[in-house]
Amino acid sequence: MLWSGWGDPAKAAELPEPVRRLLADFLGVRGPAGPAATFGEVRLPAPVLPPPALAALAAITGPEHVRTDDDARIRHTRGRSTPDLLLMRAGDGSDAPDAVVLPGSHDEVAEVLRVCAEHRVAVVPYGGGTSVVGGLVATREGFAGVAALDLSRLNRLVSVDAESMVAEMEPGLRAPQAEELLAAHGLTLGHFPQSYEYATLGGFAAARSSGQASAGYGRFDDMVVGMTVATPRGTLETGRAPKSAAGPDLRQVILGSEGAFGVITSLRLRVHRAPGRRVYEGWRFATFADGLAAIRRLTQDGPSPTVLRLSDETETMVGLAQPGELGTSPSGSGCLVVAGYEGAPEDVSYRGERAAAVLTGMGGVHLGPEPGEKWAHGRFSAPYLRDSLLAAGATVETLETACFWSAVPRLQESVRQALTGALGSPLVMCHVSHVYGTGASLYFTVVTAQTGDPIGQWAAAKHAASEAILRAGGTITHHHGVGRDHREPYGAEIGEVGVEILRAIKERLDPVGVLNPGVLIP
Ligand SMILES: Cc1cc2nc3c(=O)[nH]c(=O)nc-3n(C[C@H](O)[C@H](O)[C@H](O)COP(=O)(O)OP(=O)(O)OC[C@H]3O[C@@H](n4cnc5c(N)ncnc54)[C@H](O)[C@@H]3O)c2cc1C
Repeated sequence: MLWSGWGDPAKAAELPEPVRRLLADFLGVRGPAGPAATFGEVRLPAPVLPPPALAALAAITGPEHVRTDDDARIRHTRGRSTPDLLLMRAGDGSDAPDAVVLPGSHDEVAEVLRVCAEHRVAVVPYGGGTSVVGGLVATREGFAGVAALDLSRLNRLVSVDAESMVAEMEPGLRAPQAEELLAAHGLTLGHFPQSYEYATLGGFAAARSSGQASAGYGRFDDMVVGMTVATPRGTLETGRAPKSAAGPDLRQVILGSEGAFGVITSLRLRVHRAPGRRVYEGWRFATFADGLAAIRRLTQDGPSPTVLRLSDETETMVGLAQPGELGTSPSGSGCLVVAGYEGAPEDVSYRGERAAAVLTGMGGVHLGPEPGEKWAHGRFSAPYLRDSLLAAGATVETLETACFWSAVPRLQESVRQALTGALGSPLVMCHVSHVYGTGASLYFTVVTAQTGDPIGQWAAAKHAASEAILRAGGTITHHHGVGRDHREPYGAEIGEVGVEILRAIKERLDPVGVLNPGVLIP
């Protein structure tokens, strides 16, 4: 992973000429503010972990799995939000951990937590490092130092129960590794977020991730049937049956807890048979409202596609759903729907035909497989464009929310107005990314000309958008999680009693407070 950007540097994306023109003519982007820092120019604070703590950690994992070199520290600094990338591009390594610890088993994780509590060392569980909400930056005050707990050595497929369709997998598996291991058994998880190439199973559970095929396979938290969790107070095992009436479901306490309550060391996950056929196609609707009505009907009455995504007029015009064609209005005017079907060949045909009848009846124009195939082909490439946009002098960032269907139009308009009010005349694009019987998730992509203080510029816009989301009845996050960035609005969303419950759990499971301090809890 590129230390100051996204992904494999060999896949860096050049900005197409139409996009450069769009940036200059419509947004007034006038070139980069200055060159980005090189790796060697990153300013790191001196490491402060006391030698006895380092020695105790090395005794658990072996000294080769406790790293304090600049390379490891820089590569475990923050996540991959735009402010995170802007700070790295400016050479700011002030949030670097003092050490990176790589445990190899549940028992080692449990011991590391014990030692860190004893020495008051803050521990940041680190999966793929793709958090976009500040989930990987620990508060330093009151601690003897910060250790990143890199889970990449916990990377095994432990077992497959093909009868129950449950696989036990370790949290440090990256999504492609997990899919490869399952493919050998003819199985799939069906979890394909845009961060697929780098994010891990543990990170998906800890941040309640949702993938692009969630209409068919569900969100990641739907897939978790059980977990093993190491906490400073001992081990928690959750999920012994598919459903249970044995009190509140403690899985829900850990899902979305972002390392603040414990470290997930094993996951029992529902799996699916690998699809025999995949079909993705495009539809055009005259307006966003028409498209919304159609995808709502499909979601509520069936047949449900595996992938269902609706772009608004601006996103359709720019072509964001098909990054290979960016800036060329590849799907024409109106609003693009991408509908995809995965499964057994006959089931794919049956659902596709019935869904086509519903979409046509709701005013949709069938565009054939091309837009769908282009979406599928480019589905993981859009993040590479962000680096090129930042380098060109544009600020680009995303945010997401969800609400009930009846509130969708007002929520979309409120967020758009808030972003426009804060940024002047940005490009605001929106799509419906995940659908449920009762509502949907809205995902916004914002592009604007960078000011001299792009971090402050985005902070103001994000604040305005967050207030608009809460006012319009949305949740502060549908799948990115809380981290540090959403902590305060999350507090407003769950209220005083909700915050007290979280604090009580935290105090009980982590009495010294070493687990990811500053994250999640308002
Ligand atoms: C370009 C881009 C595209 C993205 N697209 C999507 C998307 O389509 N859908 C989506 O849902 N999200 C998306 N995200 C957000 C991000 O990928 C998800 O939040 C993902 O779940 C994080 O996984 P990770 O392994 O990288 O976790 P990390 O970023 O390493 O960690 C995330 C949080 O979980 C904690 N954590 C990690 N592992 C564990 C563990 N084993 N036990 C306890 N706590 C742990 C960390 O401390 C941190 O607080 C995107 C991010 C980027 C940068």
